[in-house]
This record gives sequence, C-alpha cells and structure tokens, in this order.
Amino acid sequence: MDTVLPPAAPPASPSASPSASPHSGPQPSRTAAPTPVTAAAGDGIGPEIMQASLRILGAAGANIAVEWIDIGERVYLDGNSAGIAEDAWASLRRTGVFYKAPITTPQGGGFKSLNVTIRKSLGMFANVRPCVSYAPFVATQHPEMNVVIVRENEEDLYAGIEHRQTDDVYQCLKLITRPGCEKIVRYAFEYARAHGRKKVTCFTKDNIMKMTDGLFHKVFDEVAAEYPDLENEHWIVDIGAAKLATEPGAFDVVVTPNLYGDILSDITAEMSGSVGLGPSANIGAHGAMFEAIHGSAPDIAGMDAANPSGLLLAGVMMMAHIGQPAVAELVHNAWLRTIEDGVHTADVFTQGLSVGKVGTDAFADAVISRLGEQPTRLPPVKYSTDARPVRIHEPVARPKAAKQFVGIDVFVHARTAAEGLAAQLRRAERPGFNLSMITNRGVKVWPNGLSETFCTDHWRCRFMAEPGARFDTSTVVSLLSDLAELGIDFIKTEHLYNFDGEPGFSLGQGQ
Ligand code: NAD
Repeated sequence: MDTVLPPAAPPASPSASPSASPHSGPQPSRTAAPTPVTAAAGDGIGPEIMQASLRILGAAGANIAVEWIDIGERVYLDGNSAGIAEDAWASLRRTGVFYKAPITTPQGGGFKSLNVTIRKSLGMFANVRPCVSYAPFVATQHPEMNVVIVRENEEDLYAGIEHRQTDDVYQCLKLITRPGCEKIVRYAFEYARAHGRKKVTCFTKDNIMKMTDGLFHKVFDEVAAEYPDLENEHWIVDIGAAKLATEPGAFDVVVTPNLYGDILSDITAEMSGSVGLGPSANIGAHGAMFEAIHGSAPDIAGMDAANPSGLLLAGVMMMAHIGQPAVAELVHNAWLRTIEDGVHTADVFTQGLSVGKVGTDAFADAVISRLGEQPTRLPPVKYSTDARPVRIHEPVARPKAAKQFVGIDVFVHARTAAEGLAAQLRRAERPGFNLSMITNRGVKVWPNGLSETFCTDHWRCRFMAEPGARFDTSTVVSLLSDLAELGIDFIKTEHLYNFDGEPGFSLGQGQ
C-alpha cells in the first residue's frame, strides 16, 4: 500500500531524485535514512501544487520517502463517506507524518469532513497557522502582521454531537474538557518559547459561556503562570477579533477554542494578501499533518495558475518537524527571495509591485533557482539545527472532585404556556424535591415570567432537591415514570451536580 498513486501524474519523490544542491549556505545532511512521509495529491489544484512543492523540497535535499495514499472526492464518490480508504490509515499510523494537498468535499449531505476525521482519529489537537504579511512585496492593508493562531482542534462545537429535539429546536453540544484546554494552552506557550515569540493571547467568550469558555480562560491563567518569561493576556473574542482584524501587529501567538480559531485564522490568512499563501500544521503526540489552509480551488484547477506557496510553506513546517531544519531554512529563504524579487502567481500579482506573473511550475522553478539565496529586505528566517518539535505535555491527572447529585433538568417538548406546563409538572413533585424553574431557550419563564418573552416548543424544567432531602437516581427514575404517566413528552434529561460544593450547572437567565 506504499505506492497508491495520486490521480494526476505522481510528483517525483524527493528521495528518488536526490539532486545535489548547487548552492552555498547550510547543506542538508543526506547520510541518515529517509524519513517516511505519507502524502496525498488531493483534488482540484492539489496535484499541481503538490508536484511543485515536492519538486522544490527535493531540489533542496529533503531526505524523505513518500508513501502515497488516496483521499478525497474520488474516494467519497466510491461510497466511502469518510473520504479516506481503510488501508490508508495503516500508512498514516506508520509514518505519523502526513503531507496533504487540499481535497474537494462533494456537495450534499452524508459526507463527513476528512480533515476533522483525521485530526480527531489521530489526536492532532493543535492547529497551528502562521499568518504573515510580506509588505511591500505582496499588497496588504496590514503590513505589520506576523501572528500565529494556535487553534484547539478536537473539541468545542466540532464534537459533531447534534440533535433535533422538537419541531422547533435543534441542538449542537459544545464540549470543552480540562485535559483538552491544558494540552492546547501549554502547546501555545511551548510554541511561543520555542519560536522566540514574546506574548500569548487567549480569546474566549467567557462573559457568556461561563462554564465552557470560562474553563478555557481559567486554564489559560493557570498555565500562563508557569511561563513568567512570556507576556499573556485575554480578550473577549468579539472585541479581540475586531482588534486583530484592524491592528494585527498588537498580537503575537493567539490561542483559542476550535470555532473561534477556525474563523480567525481564515481572516488573518486573507489579510496577509492571499489565501494561497497560508500554511497550516496539525500537531499531536501520535502524528502531524501539514497542508495549505485553502481548498482545492476547482475554478483554477488544471490551469497552471495556482499559488503553491501555502502547501510549500506547510512542507517547510514539516521539514522542521521531522528534524531537517537546514532544508526548511533553505526553502523558506529562497521562497522569501522569490516573493521579494516580484516573481508572483496571479493571486498576488499587483501591477507596479510585481515584476513577473508566473504559473505554478515557473514559480517552483524560480524558487529552486534561488536556493541558497536570502531575502535582502524581508527578514531572512533561521531554523536552529538543534530545533526539535515543540514539547507536548500530557495533562496532569487530577484528583476526583466530590460530586453531589442535587437536581435534574427535564427537557420537555410541548406547545403550551409556561403556567399550564408548571401546573402539570408540579403533580410529579415529591417531598423535598420540587419544580424550581422553567426556562425557554435559556430564559426563565416560570415562576414570574414576562409575557413579552418569545417561547418555542422546548422547555427546560428544573427539579431541585431541598438540602438534606434524600435524592438519588431512583428518585429520578420514579419522577420520569410519573411524568410519563402524566403524558409529559420529555425528550432529554441533564443531571445537576455540585463538584466540591460548586454548582456544575448554569442558572437560568433572569433567575
Ligand atoms: P478555496 O480555498 O478552494 O478557493 C477560494 C478562492 O481562492 C477561489 O477563488 C480560488 O481560486 C482561490 N484560491 C484558493 N487557493 C488558491 C491558490 N493556492 N492559488 C490561487 N488561488 C487560490 O475554497 P472553496 O472554493 O470554498 O472550496 C473549494 C473546495 O475545497 C470545496 O470542495 C471545499 O470543501 C474544499 N476545501 C478543502 C479544504 C482542505 O482540503 N483542507 C479546505 C477548504 C476547502
């Protein structure tokens, strides 16, 4: 299964074409055995930019042995709803390094996101996206941007747990875990340290989501205290995003939960001048995946017009990750010089700024001909020869909290009014165990609701135990049994606990 070829002409494996580099500067060592890398040529512009990127890496002396796997549109349309063949997993698990071109996700339902599947199945919890401006050589409104977005990759609303609960209401569960927060926040600080960055900024919306985003912020504060050499700050994501979009020079490394990071990193990538410039790395303890941030660009596929820079710079990140920093440095500096010399693909070509408009292949040739050169106006990059992948800390095991069962939220599907529903539910009350509140879309509507509040057919009905009253799961079972007898259409329950005496549930709005 090592050599399942990509759909287009397979790019030459760099290890198969060890052209000696005719340039001065740091020389990659080729004495070690080649590092096995799994690669996929993807769809649309994927094969073109993969070919160009591997050609450049090969010319720079990348010592890798590529195993090709098949992913994407053809696999989806062959009936595999995950977009990846079963046997491709063996290669991914063996090499632990995946160089991936973009794929096309077929239109219509039933297809799962391949990226999310790979990231989560292989535990790639950190998505790292450097977003850099190359002014004045690439037109941008934000010449001072040099931000790295470190996005949590496995949790949040991307857990993919969604339900339709009533005629009116659909739900998506937002899951945030303490180990998940600890891993990503520590990774952001370790990344900042390893890359000589000065500050880590956290974005959350913990003024509203006090428990989930509140945990992320709390863990950020705890971990930040372990890195006194680095500045730290927290912004509420809405105003923070506005500041990032207008004054990116105020930020350095940004760490954030999954959804905000997904949105913010596309915005900052676009701000750099073209979505075609941005690389991305997905990092975990068992594997890493390197890709461009953009998609398969079917509108320009096969036209030799795509910018290979995003995938190439992802390849540079991969070289550093697998311990070939000399190759990373050589390619990155040659690429900077090419951009600086005004040799540009159509997406970044600007009359007056650019010198020549080139296609994908000619751009690759231009980078190869500059291997060994450094940029003269853009800052050259340096990859330390003893650089190692950023340290990944396993989360610390914590003692179990004292958990006390104190009540239950019963979610009910009903077209009714709050007063009538409360009267029915109260017939199931028992001594020491009472209906305390009903909310609709989180807003308290009983007792003492407002007639102006808009209500749907989805009610959260909270039963609480009085202090000292006997209350356990058998109470819940008998309550639900009584509710069923009363004809109440309950569609879900949520247990209410105190953890070490602190409520593990939010209050109703207006409670
Ligand atoms: P896209 O990123 O493919 O294209 C958006 C625009 O940017 C297009 O005009 C395109 O021509 C341009 N563009 C993108 N990359 C470029 C490059 N390297 N050089 C020059 N121009 C470039 O986004 P889309 O059109 O929304 O999505 C197309 C397909 O890609 C969809 O099927 C989508 O699901 C998929 N997609 C895949 C990935 C991935 O595999 N990681 C990511 C995003 C989208």
